[in-house]
Amino acid sequence: MENYVVLGATGSIGTSTLDVISRNPDLYSVYALVANSSHEKMLQLCAQHQPQFAHMVDSQAAKALQDSLPKDCVTQVTTGEAALSAIMTDTHVDTVMAAIVGAAGLVPTFDAVKAGKKILLANKEALVMSGQLFMDTAKQSGATILPVDSEHNAIFQSMPENVQSALGFCDLEQEGINHVLLTGSGGPFLTAPLSSLSQMTPQQACKHPNWSMGRKISVDSATMMNKGLEYIEAKWLFNTSPSQLKVVIHPQSVIHSMVQYNDGSVIAELGNPDMRTPIAHCMSYPKRIPSGVEPLDFFKVGQLTFCEPDFERFPCLKLAIQACEQGQEATTVLNAANEIAVEAFLNEQIAFTDIAKVNSACLEQVKPNPLSTIDAILALDEQARQLAQDFIATAL
Ligand code: NDP
Repeated sequence: MENYVVLGATGSIGTSTLDVISRNPDLYSVYALVANSSHEKMLQLCAQHQPQFAHMVDSQAAKALQDSLPKDCVTQVTTGEAALSAIMTDTHVDTVMAAIVGAAGLVPTFDAVKAGKKILLANKEALVMSGQLFMDTAKQSGATILPVDSEHNAIFQSMPENVQSALGFCDLEQEGINHVLLTGSGGPFLTAPLSSLSQMTPQQACKHPNWSMGRKISVDSATMMNKGLEYIEAKWLFNTSPSQLKVVIHPQSVIHSMVQYNDGSVIAELGNPDMRTPIAHCMSYPKRIPSGVEPLDFFKVGQLTFCEPDFERFPCLKLAIQACEQGQEATTVLNAANEIAVEAFLNEQIAFTDIAKVNSACLEQVKPNPLSTIDAILALDEQARQLAQDFIATAL
C-alpha cells in the first residue's frame, strides 16, 4: 500500500487524483490532504478518504474544519508551516501529489524533494522558480520526479528509458532525439479577432475548449503563458536546449506532445483530454492502472490539425521563452508577475491584454541574481509581486 499526501487536494488535480486513488483501493491510501481555505470541501474529502492528517494553510479554515469534523474522526487537523513541513517529511509518506496552484506550492514540494519522496509534479511553478536547485536536490536526495502535466507526461512516455531514469540530466542528442514538440490547444481565444482580446472577460478566458481546470491555469491557457511555463518546465525536466524545444498549436488536444527522433520517427502520446490519464500513469509507473478515462474514439476525433504559435496574439508565450533563455531569475520574476496579473484580471481590475503588459514591465527590471537557495528565490518572488502590484496601480 502506497501512502499519499495530496497537496492541493480540493482543486481540480487534487480531485482527479483522489478519484484515481478511489478506483485502486488495494494499491493506494490517503495519508494526508492539504488545501488552503476550502474547509467544506475538505470536510467531504475527510469523510470519504479518512486521512491521518488534514492540513489547512488558512488557520481559520483549519478551525472551521476541526469544529465540523465528527468527534470520533481519525483525522487530525493541522495548520502552520512547521506542521506542513512535518507532514512532507513524515516517514509514513511514500508519494506526494504536488498540486497546489502557483508559487505557494514550492516550499512543501521542495520539502518532499529534500526528504527523497516520490513526487508526482503538477505544480509547474515549482520548477519555473527553482528548476536547477529542484533537480539538483532531487538527484542528491534520491527523490523520484514524475511529470503530471499532460504535455510533460506525454513527452516522458515518448522518451526512451535512459531519459526517463535521468530526468533533468539526460542527453537528448545521445538518445537520437532532435526535438521535443510541446503541443498546446491555443486556448479559447485562438481564433478570436485580435481587436476583441482587450474586452475578454474572466468568464470567457476560463472557458477552455477542451480541458476542465482551475481558474489560474485556465487564464494562463488563454494567454498561452501556461505553454510558456511548460516550456520552462520542459527545459528542466528534459534538459532541452532552445533549438531542441518547439511549441506546436494543436487545437484538438488529442496529441498531448511528441518527441522527434533523428531517424524521422515521431513518438506521441494521445488520449482524451482528462488529467486522470497522466495522473494514473505517474501513480503506477512503470505499470498501468485503470483511471476511469473514456478510451479515445478516433472516429469521433476525425481531424487532427497543427499550426505555429502567433506571438502577436500570445505575447506571454514569447516572454516566457525569452525568460527561459535569460535564466532562473527571469523565470522567477515572470512567474510572480503573472500570478499577480492573473489575479488582478480575475478580479476585473485589469484587462486581459494588460496581463502581458504587467509581465513584460516586470521582466524588463530583472537583474542578474544567482538563486542558490529557496530563501533567495522566495525573496525575489516577493519583490516581483510588489513590482507587478505597483505597475498595476500606477501604469494601467
Ligand atoms: P485549482 O485552482 O483547481 O486548485 C488549487 C489547489 O491549491 C486547491 O486545493 C487550493 O486550496 C490549493 N491552494 C491554493 N493556494 C494555496 C496555498 N497558498 N497553500 C496551499 N494550498 C493552496 O488548481 P489546479 O488543480 O487546476 O492546478 C494545480 C496545479 O496543477 C497548478 O500548478 C497547475 O498549473 C497544475 N496543473 C493543472 C492542470 C489541470 O488540468 N488543472 C494540468 C496540469 C498542471 P483551496 O481550495 O483551499 O483554495
